[in-house]
Amino acid sequence: MEKKKPFSEEVKTKCLLWSDRHCGVCGKSCGLDIEVHHIDPKEDNIQDNAIPVCYNCHAKLGRYIDSQPRGTKYKIQEIKKSRDQIYERYTSHLVPGLLPTIYPTSTEPSTYYLPQIGFAIAPVGQFIPVKATIVVKTFLGGKDLGKIGSKIPYYDGGIIWHLNPGLRFRGNFTIPKVCAESKEALQLELNITIIDPYEREHKLLPVCFTYVRKAEPNDGYWFLEPTSFAQLEQYVKKSNTD
Ligand SMILES: [Zn+2]
Repeated sequence: MEKKKPFSEEVKTKCLLWSDRHCGVCGKSCGLDIEVHHIDPKEDNIQDNAIPVCYNCHAKLGRYIDSQPRGTKYKIQEIKKSRDQIYERYTSHLVPGLLPTIYPTSTEPSTYYLPQIGFAIAPVGQFIPVKATIVVKTFLGGKDLGKIGSKIPYYDGGIIWHLNPGLRFRGNFTIPKVCAESKEALQLELNITIIDPYEREHKLLPVCFTYVRKAEPNDGYWFLEPTSFAQLEQYVKKSNTD
């Protein structure tokens, strides 16, 4: 059998930190008695293919014989999900709550009018400083107009945000001018990824903001839709044809 390339020190260290040295299969606290295993022997030695395991589980993962099936074999996706649950258990406390807002809202006016948009983010409570990336995408009449472009790429994932306790950020960005002139449905989708102090990425679920147009262009406002644009799309398309 071809010898597997070992994982780099960086990959191994992340495995151990993210799991707090717990087995990614059975969840046991392992201390020194832990190894980093290749989940898929055919795949590369990348982070996604690594799992911290106790000696017992390490032996079991390699022991199943397809020609003499007994019990239920560990599937690759299952092992990865089980590992991610363990990582989540030992890193989720590092992720602050966030309150992102797009202005104007129905209750809070703003000095920004389309195509300019106000944006605020406020981490909630006490937490260890974390990094984040923010991607905002514009959808007009169900059409993807892409990520927000700006001189400093705060809203297209190009720059790492630093979120410190007590820091409330208020800024603004501009969407394509056609969005202000059009009468079609206008949505912004917000994707936030938190990078914890151990460099683990926590992708928050995407949410959307829908614009409510009014007779007076400057009277419109945004409201939060607790779902992704992919899910909203069918309803947006329907309302465009109604
Ligand atoms: Zn185990």
